[in-house]
Amino acid sequence: MTNDQLLALAEAFGNPLYVYDSKKITSQYNRLTNAFKGVKNLRVNYAVKALSNISVLKLFNTLGSGLDTVSIQEVQLGIHAGFLPEKIIYTPNGVSLEEIEQVAALGVQINIDNLSVLEQFGARHPKVPVCIRINPHVMAGGNSKISVGHIDSKFGISIHQMPHLLRIIENTKMNINGIHMHTGSDILDIEVFLYASEILFEAAKNFKNLEFIDFGSGFKVPYKDGDIETNVEELGEKLTARFNNFCQEYGKELVLAFEPGKFLVSQAGYFLAKVNVVKQTTSTVFAQIESGFNHLIRPMFYNAQHRIENLSNPEGRDRFYSVVGYICETDTFASNRRIAEIKEGDILCFYNAGAYCFTMASNYNSRYRPAEVLWHNNQGHLITKRETFEDLIRNQIPIDFSEISAKKTAKSQA
Ligand SMILES: *Cc1c(COP(=O)(O)O)cnc(C)c1O
Repeated sequence: MTNDQLLALAEAFGNPLYVYDSKKITSQYNRLTNAFKGVKNLRVNYAVKALSNISVLKLFNTLGSGLDTVSIQEVQLGIHAGFLPEKIIYTPNGVSLEEIEQVAALGVQINIDNLSVLEQFGARHPKVPVCIRINPHVMAGGNSKISVGHIDSKFGISIHQMPHLLRIIENTKMNINGIHMHTGSDILDIEVFLYASEILFEAAKNFKNLEFIDFGSGFKVPYKDGDIETNVEELGEKLTARFNNFCQEYGKELVLAFEPGKFLVSQAGYFLAKVNVVKQTTSTVFAQIESGFNHLIRPMFYNAQHRIENLSNPEGRDRFYSVVGYICETDTFASNRRIAEIKEGDILCFYNAGAYCFTMASNYNSRYRPAEVLWHNNQGHLITKRETFEDLIRNQIPIDFSEISAKKTAKSQA
């Protein structure tokens, strides 16, 4: 999208504002499916938690995508957006047996990642097909919060517990139709991914009724200059050959599934915020924006570096700024970043704001969450209204203290 288009949207819909470009989402989806066109049965399940707006989900539905969900509420959102239950996979971690049963009853593919729940579920519903999340114990992921496949991770059933796993399946006679891994976001190295895949193929041989193998996600996209991204074309070439080989060995055309979030939506997103104050201290020039980690927490939570540009003065001379917010706590978006000269009232744009940005926003400091706009067919469509004071107090039940103390007084006088 162009600067002028973004500025016009900030003008029309106010700020702070999230904007998503449907064309970029579509091209990323097509890029991934093209990279794996040599696989007969490919399934891309978009990871809802990255960006869960209903209109975005509907867009994925028109593309032919399925959904990857981690809570019953995400399942409900998907169904609400028009997805058939059979196009949804549910990969929770640490949820109750009851929630898993409720999701299974909706006809959604469930994916179980611990032996305790697997045994209980299998004993009660031996006929319901279940996918198993394996932890291959491969170190991947850009940082410790999103690296979920290592040896002491809470995710998945350890590959070393295979004998125990097989015993449960034999005892319960349950039907295992899929096998899955998700080793973490931000995979830097295709070879690591392929290595983990080999462990999954080896594990898959233990199951006779598989319909699919799910390789999770972790596709990396560039955030800042010099970042490397997952070469999905090379991965497609290598994994397709290996997968097709495996299917021959296995004696059945399986479905190859992926469940990317970041890869599909990160680069499609823009976060726009106005500069309230330019504050020069003895050491630093701060640009303070009408936002904070209540709207975009990734820089503070993950040390994520989002590229920032001054849309209002793109040709201005570069200066060094620390971009911070209005939260009464440290909320640094960027330290000593080179940005075109900033004046109060300018609109800054944060790039890569599609994934894990709005979905992690909160009302901290009793601020409203931003509005969201989908840029589609050269037009901005409001897909989430800006919140109002009513939204802040909607679920609160005020206590009338004067009534309580009046009652108390009456009682003590009696
Ligand atoms: C979060 C998640 C994903 C998506 O990860 P990205 O890094 O956004 O691609 C996929 N699968 C599962 C099980 C997840 O929890």
